Amino acid sequence: MSGESIVRIGVLLPDVLGTYSDRGNATVLAQRLRWRGVDADVITVTAGSRPPGDCDVYVIGGGEDAAQSFAAEWLRRHRQLRTRLQTAHVFAVCAGLQVLGHWVEGVDGRRRPGLGILDLTTSPGRRRSVGEVVASCVLPGVGTLTGFENHRGVTRLGPDAAPLAAVVHGVGNGSGDGGEGALTPTVIGTYLHGPVLARNPALADHIVHTVTGRDLSPLELPDQDDVRHVHLAVAARRPLDPLRRIRAALCRPRHG
Ligand code: GLN
Repeated sequence: MSGESIVRIGVLLPDVLGTYSDRGNATVLAQRLRWRGVDADVITVTAGSRPPGDCDVYVIGGGEDAAQSFAAEWLRRHRQLRTRLQTAHVFAVCAGLQVLGHWVEGVDGRRRPGLGILDLTTSPGRRRSVGEVVASCVLPGVGTLTGFENHRGVTRLGPDAAPLAAVVHGVGNGSGDGGEGALTPTVIGTYLHGPVLARNPALADHIVHTVTGRDLSPLELPDQDDVRHVHLAVAARRPLDPLRRIRAALCRPRHG
């Protein structure tokens, strides 16, 4: 962490890769830090702004192919940020995951360079992968992940990246090995939207823990369990507990 005890969270290009509101991942991280008494600043880094090179954690989201190509060039152009992304904590979703790799091949067959921070490459699949995903996360204590995917890209990992999770329902990376996302000691990438950290609080807390180095006090959030039950049941096509369904529908955002 930089400075005294304030965690700086940079949201990269939400104006470009913002199709699925993945910037909500930064809101979740900031709020889970604040609930633990740790100050957090969310710094929005739009395409017209000068990106800060001193954030503790950066998040980047998903979007369309053209937006993604723009984002890849923009990221490659900002050298200070690019250097920082090699050591900072990074949480990347879908297009964000793809542009952190070596290259992304478009439907035109052209390979556009990424940042090379993750040992992976992406090529177009035969059809889009769209729908709910359930995956079993390899990170200890994180458990089952849920989210939704909408991508054409198929991602192949090299030896320096491991999958974040094993797919139970859905497609994920789509390379045939059942892997979902990518993991290094500082970078987590996933195909899951949601925002995925709202749906999967244990993954959010894993990031909060790695960024702060602190042991975290548990949070009593009963609504969260109800919402999670509904997502898991829907994704796995299991019947819903009617009471949890009603409680999840009624749950209100919490402030403070
Ligand atoms: N454009 C990319 C693809 O279709 C990423 C999509 C996304 O971010 N949801 O594979």
